[in-house]
Amino acid sequence: MKIALIAHDKKKDTMIKLAIKYQEVLAGHELYATGTTGTLVMGETGLKITRMKSGPLGGDQQIGSMVAEGKLDLIIFLRDPLTSQPHEPDVSALLRLCDVQSIPLATNYKSAEIMLDALKSKIF
Ligand code: PGA
Repeated sequence: MKIALIAHDKKKDTMIKLAIKYQEVLAGHELYATGTTGTLVMGETGLKITRMKSGPLGGDQQIGSMVAEGKLDLIIFLRDPLTSQPHEPDVSALLRLCDVQSIPLATNYKSAEIMLDALKSKIF
């Protein structure tokens, strides 16, 4: 499966925790990420990740473009709901495209765990 990882700044530690916990599961898939998230997760886990631009510099839109083209199967986007983001329009556009294309999308840690547990159990 092609999986994209994105985390807002205050959620990057949470993403690293998630990636470490599910490192073996994630290693069996093709991984993509926005720039900073990808660099941090690769540094902490050694996972191979194709990095886009940083989110605020267009990375969310690049991921959105992949969604529009049917090139991603699952997205984990750990959003910070308490801080306004300069690239909020890009964030909304990406979430919308996931719904348009019916792409599974986890926006918080627990949802991501459920998805990755499902992947681990080969439920989907
Ligand atoms: P980043 O982008 O991984 O480059 O920080 C994430 C975002 O803010 O959308």
